[in-house]
Formats: sequence, C-alpha cells, structure tokens
Amino acid sequence: MTATLYPHLLAPLDLGFTALKNRVVMGSMHTGLEETKDWPRVAEFYAERARGGAALIVTGGMAPNREGGVFPGAAGLFTDQDIANHRVVTDAVHAADGKMAMQILHAGRYAYSPDCVAPSPIKSPISPFPPKELDEAGIEKQIADIVTAAARAREAGYDGVEIMGSEGYFLNQFIVKHTNTRTDRWGGSYENRIRLPIEVVRRVREAVGPDFIVIFRLSMIDLVPEGSTFDEVVQLAQAVEAAGATIINTGIGWHEARVPTIATSVPRRGFAWVTGKLMGKVGVPVITSNRINTPDVAEDVLATGCADMVSMARPFLADAHFVSKAEEGRADEIAPCIACNQACLDHTFSGKLTSCLVNPRACHETELRYAPTRAPKSVAVVGGGAAGAMTAVIAAQRGHRVTLFEAADRIGGQLNMAREIPGKEEFHGLVDWLVKMLEVSGVEVRLGQAATVAGLAGFDEVVIATGVRPRDPGIPGQDGPNVLSYIDVLAGKAPVGETVAIIGAGGIGFDVAEYLVHEGESPTENLTLWQREWGVGDPAVTRGGLAPEGPRPEAPARQVSLLQRKNERLGKRLGKTTGWIHRAALRMKQVEMIGGVQYDRIDAEGVHVRTGETGDEVRVIAADTIVLCAGQVPDRSLADALEAAGRKVHVIGGADVAAELDAKRAIDQGARLAASL
Ligand code: NAP
Ligand code: SF4
Repeated sequence: MTATLYPHLLAPLDLGFTALKNRVVMGSMHTGLEETKDWPRVAEFYAERARGGAALIVTGGMAPNREGGVFPGAAGLFTDQDIANHRVVTDAVHAADGKMAMQILHAGRYAYSPDCVAPSPIKSPISPFPPKELDEAGIEKQIADIVTAAARAREAGYDGVEIMGSEGYFLNQFIVKHTNTRTDRWGGSYENRIRLPIEVVRRVREAVGPDFIVIFRLSMIDLVPEGSTFDEVVQLAQAVEAAGATIINTGIGWHEARVPTIATSVPRRGFAWVTGKLMGKVGVPVITSNRINTPDVAEDVLATGCADMVSMARPFLADAHFVSKAEEGRADEIAPCIACNQACLDHTFSGKLTSCLVNPRACHETELRYAPTRAPKSVAVVGGGAAGAMTAVIAAQRGHRVTLFEAADRIGGQLNMAREIPGKEEFHGLVDWLVKMLEVSGVEVRLGQAATVAGLAGFDEVVIATGVRPRDPGIPGQDGPNVLSYIDVLAGKAPVGETVAIIGAGGIGFDVAEYLVHEGESPTENLTLWQREWGVGDPAVTRGGLAPEGPRPEAPARQVSLLQRKNERLGKRLGKTTGWIHRAALRMKQVEMIGGVQYDRIDAEGVHVRTGETGDEVRVIAADTIVLCAGQVPDRSLADALEAAGRKVHVIGGADVAAELDAKRAIDQGARLAASL
C-alpha cells in the first residue's frame, strides 16, 4: 500500500558503491548541539531522525579551520578527540540504519570574526567584519583544510561529506563577481571564478577515495546582483560532476538576499522549479529543497521531475518520524513544520540551542521524555489552544485519561486567528494536526463547553490553558462605532473601511496590517503572484534570478497606518530572521509606520495623537476604522475561582503569562507539564 502512496519518495536510490533507502535527505541545520560537547545528546538527536526513516542525514556545517568557522569556536574536526566524538554520532546513526554526511562549511566573509577571509576584501552587508583578501598561499591553505576535514570525516565514520558551495558562503563568494574582483587565476573570467569549487571537489575526491559520498551544494539562484546565470550554473554543475561529486544539492539565495527563501510566506516548493532546470543536464542525482514540508508535496516534486531527491531540514525538527509515518500511511500524524523559524533559526541567530515550535523535544531528546506513566490519572485540560491541546495530547499519549474542555466550537484558540493571515496558511496544518493527534491519542474533546469549578471537581489534575483577553488601552473614544478589536477583524465579523489606523504594532498589529492590505488570493498560494511581489525572475533570463523590474506587489487593498508608543523602529521585536520580511512586506504595501506617539483620543476623524521629541506635535491619523491591537492580558478567571475554592491547578500558556505570549512558549510549557504529570 505504501509503495503506491509515495512511489517516488520511497524509492531507493543506487549510487553505485552504496544505496540510499529512499529519496529523503535530512538537510543541514546548525543546531548548536555539537558546541554543547554532549556527544550522547548529539547522537540521540541524529539517531532518532535515522530511526524515523531519513535515508541520508547531513550534519550542521562543520568548520574546516578557525578562520572559516561561522562564529569563533564553531565546531569542526580539528583533533583526534573530535574524530572520536563524531564517531559516537555516526555509530548511533548507523545502528539506526541511517547514513550520514558531514557538511563542511567555510563561511568566508560571512564568518562572524575579524579573522574572516574571502576572495576580495568586500564586507558583506550582514556582517560587521571586512574580510582579508586571500593570497595564493592562503587559498591553498583553505583547500588543504577543507580536504583534511573531508578525510577526517571519513575517519569519523561518516558516509560522505557535503561541500557547502551556496548561500553566499566562501566558495560561492569566489563564483560571482559581486564578491570576487580578483585578477589572478582565481578571479576574472567565469572559468577562473569556479576554479576553487572545482579544485576543492577534485582534491576531496582524491583524498576520500571512490566509495564515499561527496555532495556539492550549488547555488541555483543567487538572488543577489551580479549572481550567476543559469548557463553558468549548469557549467559549474557539470564541472563539479566531472571533478568527482556524487550528488548535487540545491542552494537557494544568498543569506544577504532581500528575497525570503524559507519563511512561512514563501509558497510551498517555491524553488523546486529552479532545480528542475538542471535535471537532465548532469548525470549525478540532483536534490531540491526549500519549503517542502509534507510527503505529498515531496512526492509531487519528484513525480514532476524537479529532482531525484528531496532535502528537508526543519521538517525533521518538527517530526523525526516524517518518513516512517509516511510509509505507514500516517502522513496526517506528522507534526508539520510551519516554517516560522521561531525556535530554530531565530534561536541559532540568538546563540541559543535550536529546537522546534511544534516539537519541543527537538534537540532535547535526552532530557524531555514522554515516558508512559505508571500511575494513570484523570486529567482535565481547559482550553483547546496551542498550550492546552499539546498538553492533552502528550498526557494522553503517556497513558493518562484526558478530557479537554474548549468553550469555542473548534480547537485552535489563537492559532485560528493566525491562519487567517495571508502568508500564514501553514497554521491550518498545525491546527489540523492538533485535532488529529487529539483523536488518535484518545483525548475526550468537549467542544462548546466552558468548564466550571463544579464540573472539574472529580479530576485528579486540572490544567488551565484559558488563554488571553485583549488589553484595554483606555483611549478616550475607543468605544465608538468606528473602533474594532483585532478579534472582530480577523473573524471577519465587522466591515473595515478604506483607511485604517492600527493601535499597537506587536505581532498581532503586523498580522492585522498584513490581513487588511491584501485582497483576493494570497501570494503564498500563488507562486507567480509571489514571485512578482518579491521580484524573483528566472536565472536563465537575468543574472542571479532577480527580476529586472524589481518587486511588483499588488496595490494595497486599504491605506493602513500602524502606530506604537515606543520610539523605535516598528517591528524591531519581531522574529530575528523573519522580522525584516514582515517589515518589507508592509512597506511594499505603503503602510505608514509611526512610532513614538501618545494617544489623545479617537473620534469620527480618526486617531488624535501627539508626536515629536517633546510630545507637543498634534496630529490626526485620519481613518475610517481603528483597530485595537494593544496586546493581551491573561484570562485567569477560572484559575482564580478554582484556587479560591481550594483546588491546586496548573496554569499554562497565555493564561499564565500573556506578555510575549507566543505559540512557541505555550507549546513548550504544555509539553513539559504533560511530561511531568
Ligand atoms: P505585543 O507583541 O505585546 O504588542 C502589543 C502592542 O500594543 C505593542 O505594539 C505595544 O506598543 C502596544 N501597546 C501595549 N500596551 C498598550 C496600551 N496600553 N495602549 C496602547 N498600545 C499598547 O502583543 P500582540 O501584538 O497582541 O501579540 C501577542 C503575542 O502574540 C506577541 O507577543 C507574539 O509573541 C504573538 N504573535 C506573534 C506573531 C509572530 O509573527 N511571531 C504574530 C502574532 C502574534 P507600545 O507599548 O509601544 O504602544
Ligand atoms: Fe519549523 Fe518553526 Fe519548528 Fe523551525 S520552529 S522547525 S520553522 S515549525
């Protein structure tokens, strides 16, 4: 049955000297685990993914030398002890019937260090450090270090290496004129600029022998000025194959590109077409990637000839058992990666250990365990939002008898608002998954039923996940007929005028702005529309795949002003790796962003504010409709009543702390509570 379900995805791949059991690669991610030096923990993280069925796992980027590390102290195979440590990991993966390749990542000018090196001394816009230009001996040293790293990877038991040649890192920096202005044999003509990646692959192959997987990750669409044309991409791919690569993997966009490439608003499989253009041009298997997060999408990418294999990285944080669940016909039980970056990339870039919003066990496998309970209890969970639903599912999986009370007529809570926002369609999948998991874990779900103190009397444990209420900003005139709450707007309950002022520019203020400036189909659901919005073209037509006309967003559906009292850039506190996308998206829709305001009153004209250094510049923000998005406060009414009646309760999610409430904290708190009940 399963073979007919995903015939392309689950088909083995013969590489000659070895075979892969299916077409799924767990793509490289920097988790920060290796830097913990807790090797059994690293091993368990990867082994769980191998048990879950990924055919080939690629590690996070390992530095070939100190100057090439993404940050000072980045992990790599520098000593015999390092090799022994990595052995622990490769042994665990092999014991779980997996295969593993170590990614060698030389960051070049992206290295966060004053010692960074590059083809030319051109500072990157995303790093404070100007790189040192390498001389001939310096280039030879970099090649030698990469080759040594590959040889050591083999010693450490890896089945292969992935040479990182994309995303604007060191080798990619040699390939394009944007970052390579050299005039020696490593610069100038395209042949000279690709000399280094080809030389690296050739010498790595020489060092590791014929029976070792060498993946080259090649930038198929740079999305930066003066990027490669597709003819050049093909030329490099063919040269890399001739130099000894076993597989070519896809890289999409440089890190400094101003086009989102993996965020949730990027259409699913939004770049598979680029990899598809390489199919038939090389003899080695080709991997595609980016925004592929379900077995159906992955199967379709392969069935339509866009690639030979699919690489998914974040989906393996969300669910280690992605492949095995697909094989067993349980795809609807796969925890979906919603591409939010909140617990993975945002953590990485804040120096924190990676995890996952929908799976708090990711990278915490040895510490957060959902062990079967030896003392089953009756557990009431009140509130079916992210926190409550997750608690209920895990508690039930552990063997407790769980009843979930939800006052509304559906599961999801605040997630049901998020899913209304254009660009956040992935939240549909998250809610569907929670509903499915409640069903399969045997939770008794009581919808449309508000729990009462009396009704909770017989339960051994009571978990309160009643969420939040909107904060009352107390602005004179806010009870006027032209003022709405974000809840009414997102529920589509009230008509919204042509001009809108939004009070509050947190996550919800930005979401509401996005909702109100869009009309019709969401670009996330229409690749052509999305490409036009962000200025993505075809690298076969324009260098780097940047559309010559630039971004051409649809006209805004409304004229929106977004207001906050803090005198700082609006959206500054949004996600570290996604905030820029939200800000850019609203700028493209001509949303006026006004900080440093004091609210005087609201009337039929709009919002009367004072601005300026001394707060004495009076201004009216004209608006037909004013939407209040002034944050939220915990809804603790039931928790307080239970405590007053002498009941001990567990309060989680927004009902516990509304400030900076987000689904990540809510789910993590729920999961940890459920693990401890
Ligand atoms: P929030 O992030 O706390 O933002 C509240 C906004 O209201 C701020 O802009 C604040 O700015 C303003 N505000 C606070 N008190 C006010 C008052 N008394 N009068 C007028 N304005 C006031 O809350 P939220 O936007 O409701 O979002 C709630 C949480 O949901 C977020 O923290 C976030 O974690 C989560 N969320 C996340 C996303 C996402 O994209 N990751 C999206 C939606 C929601 P000033 O104080 O400067 O005026
Ligand atoms: Fe995906 Fe978000 Fe989890 Fe990262 S945190 S793996 S983006 S669901």
